[in-house]
Amino acid sequence: MTQRDLEMAPDQMRDLARMAADLLVERSAKLPAGGAWDGEFREALAAALMQDPPESGRPAQDVLEQAATEILPYAARLDHPRFFGFVPSSPTWPGVIADFLAAGFNINAVTWLTGSGPSQVELVVIEWFRRWLGYPEGAGGLFTSGGSVSTVDAFVAAREAAGHPERATVYMGDQGHVALRRAATTIGVRPECVRTVTSDGLFRMDMDALKQAVADDRAAGFHPIIVCASAGAVGTGAIDPLEEMADFCESEGIWLHADAAYGGFAAVTDEGRRLLAGIERADSIGLDPHKWFFQPYEAGCLLVKDASTLQDAFAVRPDILQDTIWGANHPNFGDRGMQVSRSFRALKVWMSVQVFGMAAFRSAVAKGIDLAARAEAHVRASPSLELLSPTSLGIVCFRVNPEDAEVGEEALEKVNRTVLARVFWEEPALVSSTLLWGRFALRMCILNHTTEWEDVRETLEAVERFGREALAAQAAS
Ligand SMILES: *Cc1c(COP(=O)(O)O)cnc(C)c1O
Repeated sequence: MTQRDLEMAPDQMRDLARMAADLLVERSAKLPAGGAWDGEFREALAAALMQDPPESGRPAQDVLEQAATEILPYAARLDHPRFFGFVPSSPTWPGVIADFLAAGFNINAVTWLTGSGPSQVELVVIEWFRRWLGYPEGAGGLFTSGGSVSTVDAFVAAREAAGHPERATVYMGDQGHVALRRAATTIGVRPECVRTVTSDGLFRMDMDALKQAVADDRAAGFHPIIVCASAGAVGTGAIDPLEEMADFCESEGIWLHADAAYGGFAAVTDEGRRLLAGIERADSIGLDPHKWFFQPYEAGCLLVKDASTLQDAFAVRPDILQDTIWGANHPNFGDRGMQVSRSFRALKVWMSVQVFGMAAFRSAVAKGIDLAARAEAHVRASPSLELLSPTSLGIVCFRVNPEDAEVGEEALEKVNRTVLARVFWEEPALVSSTLLWGRFALRMCILNHTTEWEDVRETLEAVERFGREALAAQAAS
């Protein structure tokens, strides 16, 4: 049999796949013992990698070896049990394998015709999410690359549902994710028409400020089209007052979008469902399985309360796809969002839930909530730490600030920046920071199912130790 230029012999295919699998299993085993981050400056990486593409190939094993040693390690290990920065992710193995299978089967989940099995599984997983969030029947959605694209898709649906008015305005809290602002400008809302609404003392949207902003805009001839609620603000985990926002948006006829990109999967636990009460009243909900549902990137999802709103905004009927219309009972997911060719992302959620069962997923999500609560208790009990926002949905914000230390704000920021850097460089851990109304805060986001209390405690103890040393150095200078 002739082997074409871009084909491999079956044995070679197997060997390469096995080598990749071995490498990943080994990485997994070694992960906790190593650092939570590695990286390199561009100069060094370019010296190794900036080359012309080879005219003829070289052994696949060598190429894989090079990727595994010179490229892939120089990255954050977002699945390290002590990676607490930004929003961690810790994919399960069946999810990783699902991506491999979806690529290998070369699924294009754009239409029912190109992928009926995959489309049915996407319907199944969306149906699971619908029920977890308490959305009514008739709600629907699709998988996307992530929260950013989910938001854009939601905003297009909202804009079309509003009749695509001139002088449209969009509202979000000052803790809202930057993806919300970018989605608003992406759909053509002028930057000066994106309103930032101040939050209350608990970093939740201030309802009076929201009502005032909408009233002022209406009086000035603007058309409010979307209000965004954070259901897990990325900075603090704060949950906007969802019920009040839903009441207000219903009375005003404004689309309510709930950004639950990282926090939404708390809904699989009883406590999370209680905390997120009211989310089912939003017109759209974005949530990212690649964050708190243990899937590899990219796995985002958008749910809308009325599935036809997406279809109305996005459905296209190009002649080239005329053979793919099987009727309303056979949705074409390419008609629900921006993407035409789409990978089969629902498979990873489906496979990993089938393999581990929901009880395991529920307890993995509950563990993050629980560890963050324990972290808060540790911070409150610590003589050298100060809590800066109430812990919510796995996020705790705090800083080094001993009660008896008479240190000004500027000096405190310096101390905390030093602590942050020392954790980064000296500990097998990564903590990130944010600004809470201008105040520098250390921030831990604890969502990883492999993280144990010891990981959290030892990281907090390192912060305390570095804090003491930085304060002592400050006092001496
Ligand atoms: C991560 C995140 C986003 C952006 O989602 P991507 O998947 O990174 O595109 C938006 N909002 C919140 C609250 C997030 O945590």
